[in-house]
Amino acid sequence: MREALTGSRLAVVAFVVALAAIPLAAPPFWVTLGNYIGLYSIVALGLVLLTGVAGQTSFGQAAFVGLGAYTTAYLSTRYGTSPWITLPAGLAITLVVALALGFITLRMQGHYLPLATIAWGISLYFLFGNLESLGGHTGLTGIPALSFGGFDLREERHFFLLIWLIAMAALWATRNLLDSRPGRALRALKGGLEMAEAFGVDGSRLKIIAFVYAALLACVSGWLYAHLQRFVNPTPFGIGQGIEYLFMAVVGGAGSVWGAIVGASLITVLKQVLQDALPTLLGRSGNFENVVFGVLMILLLQFSRDGLWPWIAKLVPRRTQPPIAAAATLPARAGEPGTGGPLLELRSLRKAFGGLVAVNGLSFDIRKGEILGLIGPNGAGKSTTFALISGALSPSSGTIAFRGVPIGSRPPWEIARLGIARTFQHVRLMPQMSVLDNVALGAWLRGRAGVVRAALRLDRAEEARTRAVAAREIERVGLAAHMFDDAGSLPLGKQRIVEIARALAADPSLLLLDEPAAGLRFLEKQALAELLRALKAEGMTILLVEHDMEFVMGLTDRLVVMEFGEKLAEGAPAEVQQNPAVLEAYLGAA
Ligand code: ADP
Ligand code: MG
Repeated sequence: MREALTGSRLAVVAFVVALAAIPLAAPPFWVTLGNYIGLYSIVALGLVLLTGVAGQTSFGQAAFVGLGAYTTAYLSTRYGTSPWITLPAGLAITLVVALALGFITLRMQGHYLPLATIAWGISLYFLFGNLESLGGHTGLTGIPALSFGGFDLREERHFFLLIWLIAMAALWATRNLLDSRPGRALRALKGGLEMAEAFGVDGSRLKIIAFVYAALLACVSGWLYAHLQRFVNPTPFGIGQGIEYLFMAVVGGAGSVWGAIVGASLITVLKQVLQDALPTLLGRSGNFENVVFGVLMILLLQFSRDGLWPWIAKLVPRRTQPPIAAAATLPARAGEPGTGGPLLELRSLRKAFGGLVAVNGLSFDIRKGEILGLIGPNGAGKSTTFALISGALSPSSGTIAFRGVPIGSRPPWEIARLGIARTFQHVRLMPQMSVLDNVALGAWLRGRAGVVRAALRLDRAEEARTRAVAAREIERVGLAAHMFDDAGSLPLGKQRIVEIARALAADPSLLLLDEPAAGLRFLEKQALAELLRALKAEGMTILLVEHDMEFVMGLTDRLVVMEFGEKLAEGAPAEVQQNPAVLEAYLGAA
């Protein structure tokens, strides 16, 4: 393990040494190229977080680069403001613009988001080009050089060091972020908002944070660019460049920080080579490199969706996981407002989808410490009831109370906060993350570390406690042997158990399970039943939504049977099994 750690460190050190040698030994042309690669990498790193990890596609990053560049260009040429003041000024402006744009656009789903980013990318570009005070399409010249205590950064070689210092700092912070509490939640967003929100993650807020982070990095890149070039015009901040930034992130491998550098390097060098070679080769001038890029992109998306980094990563030893501190733990979930009555009360619950009434006047209780089975033929309304309790849907009418607190119209993350945890009928894990990381997401509400603390690596003590909690739940459900395996590599039965461990990591007082036995083999079902019995023995209350009559018979304390959205019967399993109406419903459906 220790050797592997040294191995990956060594690869980073070798990279930094090679980098430092460029301004000392390489010809000026290389240094210039290196400068651009560094500037582009900083932008692409933001896209790794925003697009690669959080799944939000933005074509508009070049506009944020422009904001950084134009802010410093305008203030320093017009008012003689020091670049060390224009940088925070640019960041402040970018923050405000990104927050405003983020609030509007990140609510959009599917392809509306990329379309919206194109729209504001174009708008900002034309704003730069058409404002008289920004020099119109000719831009602004005479931007001062950066200077450190009297030493002017006029030479490209000197600038190289500054650019790459910032690029490596951005890489470090972004990598830290990916390997943290907010990083886990960001990855979870890609698996769908519903899953992340079930564990208390406020998805819209997190998306905006990722968006702002990416915009701020782009702004820093623009500030550097303006002082490197010493003049700005709108051209490099248009939508074409915005697409190219996205290209870089995708080509490199949008899910990893090193992918940003690989992508920025490859696209920049390739563009240079093609620009030189193609016109000679074809005997005429033109932007043929764009045609080649287009073709390469299509090929890449066809053959290696995850970009090039995964191929390179195979050559570099993997970073090893730090050991798990067994004694550490997170605080228990706060607040157990104890009313003596039932844990959960449903009263006259109704949910209509247009004309179709999926749940109709449903009332029942879940008592503390019991396993309640909610059964019924397909289409009876079980999953809809489940969604109403977990907050994924809100009722058309009727009430749901948890410990006497009405939860009927609360969002899922608030319901999670009260102590209800769930699994999904169709398993929703992050397949490329370890079982440990998947389960750790469940403990989201018990941690506090935010983006800033995570990026600066100040979250390690809490992270160690989170990992310990996750490890304990994994042991509790009997999957200790798979702790570091990718969740996606496990058979379905075990993936369902991982989901239960993730729910337990939230320290819930009510566990909601939607058809946990579906698709399981006989032995897997037995193992699951045993686990649920053990949990009940430890005092857990469980709602088990199940289609499989046999599975619930020996396991549940009471059954509620649904048909056509209504309650057909309620009582002890043996009683319910003899109920003629229930037999009719099941046989009729079969
Ligand atoms: P069960 O889980 O018992 O099989 P569901 O709760 O999934 O049943 O579905 C109950 C009824 O509601 C079905 O007729 C189903 O087609 C309908 N239904 C469920 N979800 C929706 C939805 N989002 N929009 C429209 N109809 C729905
Ligand atoms: Mg269902």
